[in-house]
Amino acid sequence: MARKFFVGGNFKMNGTKESIKAIIKGLNEAQLDPNVEVVIAPPALYLHLAQSELKKPGVEVSAQNVFDKPNGAFTGEISVAQLKDSGINWTILGHSERRTLFGETDEVVASKTKSAIDGGLSVIWCCGESLQERESGNTVAVVERQLAALAAKLSGNDWSKIVIAYEPIWAIGTGKVATVQQAQEVHEAIRKWLRANVSDAVADQTRILYGGSVNGKNCKDLAKEKDIDGFLVGGASLKPEFIDIINSNL
Ligand code: PEP
Repeated sequence: MARKFFVGGNFKMNGTKESIKAIIKGLNEAQLDPNVEVVIAPPALYLHLAQSELKKPGVEVSAQNVFDKPNGAFTGEISVAQLKDSGINWTILGHSERRTLFGETDEVVASKTKSAIDGGLSVIWCCGESLQERESGNTVAVVERQLAALAAKLSGNDWSKIVIAYEPIWAIGTGKVATVQQAQEVHEAIRKWLRANVSDAVADQTRILYGGSVNGKNCKDLAKEKDIDGFLVGGASLKPEFIDIINSNL
């Protein structure tokens, strides 16, 4: 079964009512490749606004994070059930900013991912190495460690709710995109790991996105690689070139 190309837009802590409406108007009016699944992740405060403004079939709204307790005294957090109650079906988890700035360990990310899936969400699960880890030759070992923590929590069917985003930390928001070869190498290693440690079906069916300074210019070459099934886009998802990234294969 061919993997459907997937493009996620992570707005991070950016945007206002006006700017988010303008981005969504752009998506509603654009000609989007019908063979691409698109998910946009505005800040939590604007999830409802995004849902009500979005008229484009094939485009969904995602949270950027979720907590793994059902309810209770967790000031500032949002639960899986609350997202579902609000009609949200996706969340990003394990973004490197959550891992590095908010101390989320591999185990915390894995536990949140399991809770999200059990509660009915699909997850854009992020992994990736720091510059130091790459320079010391540990890229694949780091990603495999992150995957192993995830796999320890998931059972077979859970993987169908996961899209993996490989995002080298040194490429996020820096303008320094991984070369096509660097990205493909890690994507291939992820797929190989899934084949060896989960199953052939999961290795064949799981979408593996690249994230890190993707823009309207570099997306086309990256999209041609056999193990790159789409993108997770930060900065450029706030700009009109997001449409060009969605349409990378046209
Ligand atoms: C991201 O935040 O997931 C990301 C890839 O950011 P950027 O595209 O801005 O590098």
